[in-house]
Amino acid sequence: MDSAAERLDSIRARIDAAHRRFGPPAERVELVAVSKTFSADEVRPFLEAGQRIFGENRVQEAAGKWPELRASYAGIELHLIGPLQTNKAREAVALFDVIETVDRDKLAGVLKTEMEKAGRQPRLLVQVNIGLEPQKAGIPPAEAVAFVKRCREVHGLTIDGLMGIPPEGVPAGPYFAQLAILAGETGATTLSMGMSADFETAIAMGATHVRVGSALFGHRPRP
Ligand SMILES: *Cc1c(COP(=O)(O)O)cnc(C)c1O
Repeated sequence: MDSAAERLDSIRARIDAAHRRFGPPAERVELVAVSKTFSADEVRPFLEAGQRIFGENRVQEAAGKWPELRASYAGIELHLIGPLQTNKAREAVALFDVIETVDRDKLAGVLKTEMEKAGRQPRLLVQVNIGLEPQKAGIPPAEAVAFVKRCREVHGLTIDGLMGIPPEGVPAGPYFAQLAILAGETGATTLSMGMSADFETAIAMGATHVRVGSALFGHRPRP
């Protein structure tokens, strides 16, 4: 396979081309490099090549990997992109700069408490279950706008935007379009959607953040 720098260049070139073709509204599109299942040693070449925004889906795995990497590289921005249990909220607030997976009132309340205790304010996105899939986390689309409002007005949280994962095996475009409409209704400025297989489509629909794993790091043995 190509070097980390070559893979980053190639994905960034595709992001830029899609953005030139379809953007605005997004001022620019950020690449979240999804490093889940890959070791600190496997991540390091991407840091060396200049990548600074990374995504992890498990709090425990991130806790074992990122403190060491943060000590060696300045300016890292770490995103939690997997479901968050309330009993891990404290650790998540300490570890992550962006939590993309706020999806229920109980979690919103606990995050508010832990953020106040820690004096740390990770940016927050609400995860929407855009395909209404039972195995996926996220608030149902029909409840998303009201939930964002509750996060802001009842729980006192700042919500920057929405995140979603479309179903596999069907065209993603309509799901991205729906998420973009919901984001507009909530006044959200951040829209995290699109993965290795479909990030250009997501950019066409207004993504501000694309989450790319296997196209950068290679095949994952487990999900
Ligand atoms: C694993 C994962 C990704 C990256 O998926 P790829 O297909 O490897 O690019 C993106 N978003 C979420 C939420 C993930 O869990």
